[in-house]
This record gives sequence, C-alpha cells and structure tokens, in this order.
Amino acid sequence: MLAERNALLSAAARQVRITAIKAAALFGESPKGGWSAEIRPEDSIHAIIAVHTDAGITGYGSVFTDGRLVQAGLQVLEPLFRGETALEPERVSEKLHQNTFWMGRGGTLTHTISGIDIALWDILGKVTGQPVGRLLGGTYRRRAQPYCSLLMEAPARMRDVVADYRDRGFRAFKIGWGPFGRADDSKLDEAIVRAAREAAGAAARLFVDAGASDALWPHGLKWAMRTAEMLKDYDIGWFEEPLRPDAIEDFCHLRRVSPVPVAGGEVLTRRQAFVPWLVRGAFDIVQPDVTKVGGLSEQRRIARMADDFGVKFVGHGWNTAVGVAADLQMAAACPHTDLVEFIGGSAYLDGICTEPFALDGEGYLTIPDKPGLGVRLDRDKLARYTPDSAALFPA
Ligand SMILES: [Mg+2]
Repeated sequence: MLAERNALLSAAARQVRITAIKAAALFGESPKGGWSAEIRPEDSIHAIIAVHTDAGITGYGSVFTDGRLVQAGLQVLEPLFRGETALEPERVSEKLHQNTFWMGRGGTLTHTISGIDIALWDILGKVTGQPVGRLLGGTYRRRAQPYCSLLMEAPARMRDVVADYRDRGFRAFKIGWGPFGRADDSKLDEAIVRAAREAAGAAARLFVDAGASDALWPHGLKWAMRTAEMLKDYDIGWFEEPLRPDAIEDFCHLRRVSPVPVAGGEVLTRRQAFVPWLVRGAFDIVQPDVTKVGGLSEQRRIARMADDFGVKFVGHGWNTAVGVAADLQMAAACPHTDLVEFIGGSAYLDGICTEPFALDGEGYLTIPDKPGLGVRLDRDKLARYTPDSAALFPA
C-alpha cells in the first residue's frame, strides 16, 4: 500500500517539460459560415495546436482563427513557454496571459493561448490517466446531446436539410445566419423557422441564431423583441446573438421582456469580459468559445461564474474535433451543461480523427473517458487539410 502510494507520488512529482509547440492551419474544407463575406474553402479559419513534451506525450488543442495568426502568436509566446512544465495548465496559461497584456489582450494571443491551454489539459489527463472532465470538476454526465448547427436556408431547402440530419440521428438542431434578418422580411424569417420546426418534429429541441455578430448587422432592439415574440410560437429553446455583440444594454432589456431565453457571448474573450454581462443579467445562456476565450482554464471559470448567477453554460467549440472534445469534457464537468454544438458534415470534425464521433440511438454523444481529451488525431487524414500535419506528431 505504501509502495503504491509512493509510486503515485513520484509519478505526480515527475517533471514533464514543454519542448515545442506547433500549429497547423486547416485549409480546403472550411465550412461555410453564412457570413456576409462568406468563408471560402481555401480560407484558414481553424488551427490545430500540438504541445510536445520531453516525456514523449503530445497534447492537442484547437483555435478558431486564421492558422497563420496562430503560428505568429506562437513565435511571440515562445520565450514564455519554452522549458515550462507541461503539467500546470492553469498557471502556465495565466503566465502567458499576464505577460502579454500590452500586445492586444483578447485577440490573437488570447486565441493562441486557448489552443495551448486545451493541449496542456490533454497532457495532464494523459499523464495522470484521467479524462479531462474529471480533472476539471467531475463527472456529472457520461453523454451530452449534440445540437446540429445548420445554416438558414430558404424554407423549402431548410425543411430538406433539417430532415436529412434528423434521418442521420440528430434530435436537437440550431438554425442560424444566412437570410434570417438579412432580407428584412419577417414573413420569410418565420417561414424558415416554421419549416425547420416541421422537419425537426415537435419533440426535437430547436434553437435559433440570428448571428448578429456578422458584419454590419442591420437591426436593433425592436427587431429582436418582435422576432422573439414570433419564435415563442415554435417552441424555440433559445434566441442566440439577437443583437450586435457589444449591445449590452439592449441584451439586458431583451432578456427581461423576451418570451424565449436569450443566448450569446461567443465573440467575447477572457473571463473578465464576461463579468459585466453576468452581473447585469444580459444572458439566459452564455456560450463562450473554448478555442478563443482562453482555453479550458478560462472556460471553467466562466462556467462556474455563470452557474453562480443562475445562467446556463453551453460551449461553442464546434470548430474541430478537438474543440468538440474539449466541449464534451466541460459538459462532463458542469452540472447543467447537457448540450454541445456540433456542425454537421464538417471535414474538420468528422475527418481528422482515427475514430470519428458517432451518435447513439437517442442522438447523444458519449463523452470519452479515456485519459486526456479522449480523441486521437489521424496523421494521414490531417495531411489532407494542412501542409503542416507532420509537425503535430512526435518525431
Ligand atoms: Mg452563434
């Protein structure tokens, strides 16, 4: 018994050092965003980060921004992480944040640190033999419901797309962006939502995302109030980004009067940015993006803070299989997070792992209980989407 305890203590005390951090920009299959300046397949909007260690263990993270920015960010951060322990994600990430305050906090460096932090949690899980969710706070659930995130389409097409993903086993859906609100046609908006509800079925969960963080969003509070009234007739679980992302006063007012819950926060970064939104009561559901906000260390603190304010936390890390894996581990570690965002048909989600995520018969994803994040990247599959695949794997 004593020998066993000593062996555990020595393993815990063993130093595992960061030897290198590499980033690979993903190209070629970037999914459409429904943005007014639409993403092209050859645009880089996602990057995978690998943290290599002297123990031969590599951890993985994901970043939702142009991979070339991430590679530049790593060059800036390198003197701060070189030789650091790989077993203290929260302290090391905070060190990176605190020492770069003068270089545009909340932007590229915060995004880059997000990927590093996720990878460090992956390493800590692998070294300790524990799933990351347990290290983050425990196992409140063993599966989570993925809501299939779909771009809004004209009503007939919307009906077909939702029906297609329903046939693939999804039981929760979010429709957003595209023509919604942008055609200035409230009848069209309602027809899209009606088509989606009819195709999803009365029992499905359905959410609506206006995507008002898009460039030059044309509407204000009155539009959001009118639209929220319309949505209540279709049993909509939340109305996401109904207002421009900085309109905190309008969010607070909308939340008080809206018959449907109000969601937002995907463009905010750093935990500190969420404080006024929670204190002032702007959201029913808060949706920080683990691949931008500062990683799992930051995400956990935001999720705990939200819970203390009675606000539901649902992650926004749908961008890659690694982002979804991080969201699943957070769902395990949070008492009320039963959902993860999941973008149907994305190559960066389905096409980069040795074992892609698969829905069970009730439309849920099992949360991996393997050490770390519980996903294994496939070198050959990744090579289809990045010239830097080799840098992500130990030599
Ligand atoms: Mg959104």
